[in-house]
Amino acid sequence: MALLSNLNSCIRRKFLAEAITSVRFYCEPADNVGEEQKQIDPLKDRTKIIPTETSIKYMQSKAYEQSYGDKPVWALYRRNHKGGLAPRKTRKTCVRNGIISTGNPCPICRDEYLVLDHRNTKLLEQFISEHTGQVLDAFKTGLCQKKHKELLVAIERAWDQGNLTYDVPFREYDYSLYYKKENTQ
Ligand SMILES: [Zn+2]
Repeated sequence: MALLSNLNSCIRRKFLAEAITSVRFYCEPADNVGEEQKQIDPLKDRTKIIPTETSIKYMQSKAYEQSYGDKPVWALYRRNHKGGLAPRKTRKTCVRNGIISTGNPCPICRDEYLVLDHRNTKLLEQFISEHTGQVLDAFKTGLCQKKHKELLVAIERAWDQGNLTYDVPFREYDYSLYYKKENTQ
């Protein structure tokens, strides 16, 4: 009996193994066909990593001047949304799996040569208010949430490392209040 049950289990295992391989056999070609059919638009491809040095050079180039002029990169961007009022939060991300997944990517995602880095101060300055010295809200600039977080990290790092300056609130003290008044006594 023990032999029989062993035999049975052996047959079952073999059957299962065959079934699994057959399933794999039918699955693999289907995946390959899917990959071949995908043709990525080179304009929407964001898998290429652009070094910060290139971005810094781009910020001073003629190509940049022609496309943005003196205005900040977010100035001419308009958010695309349903209805009259824009939602409070901007899009979560513009790039999914290395490809732009939206028709209206945010000012940073649409131009692949704009790299948020603590050394790229010319770009970071555009996102700091000249009146308050604080970082502009994503609601105003239109950056997606992912890029806005990257921006906050880059600006904080630039402040920390001294690439960007910031004003410390100045307070005038009346030092006479701190000393004893000897004449009046
Ligand atoms: Zn974006």
